[in-house]
Amino acid sequence: MMDSCIRIAGIIGESIVDGPGIRLVVFAQGCPHHCPGCHNPETHAYEGGKSVAIAEILQRLAMNPLLDGITLSGGEPFAQAAGFALLAQSARQRGFHVMTYSGYTYEELTASSEQNPAWALLLEQTDLLVDGPFQLAERNLLLPFRGSENQRVIDVQESLRQGKVVLASV
Ligand code: SF4
Repeated sequence: MMDSCIRIAGIIGESIVDGPGIRLVVFAQGCPHHCPGCHNPETHAYEGGKSVAIAEILQRLAMNPLLDGITLSGGEPFAQAAGFALLAQSARQRGFHVMTYSGYTYEELTASSEQNPAWALLLEQTDLLVDGPFQLAERNLLLPFRGSENQRVIDVQESLRQGKVVLASV
């Protein structure tokens, strides 16, 4: 499994704006949503970016004692759900908190998980999900960790337990 790779647009070694605490942020390369006003249009092409070994990212996590967690951003992490699920699982096993961004809503992700079993795997390995597309008309620069009002910060573990969306208090 440690040979497995994901295609990424880039990595930020330390961020305090992409989730609680200090986090390593991995930007997935490739996104199907094309939200008008997207801040990362260079992440849309599936053939862009570069392929990196999951083991290499885990090594970066392990090397920085200041990190509280890892954030999977985009692009669209669920477009490479199997690889990102593996990364998330390995990070959690090492005690890191996992926050995942998606342009899909939680309801879309859970409703389609039969056709896309890897989507369920990535959700199972996510602590907080910021869901839904960025909507320019609902843009709000003051929201913590998200760009527009329609996006929610969801406590995924509690939501899966209760079978309904449970918002996180952030
Ligand atoms: S989901 Fe994110 S990366 Fe994809 S188009 Fe929308 S804002 Fe951009």
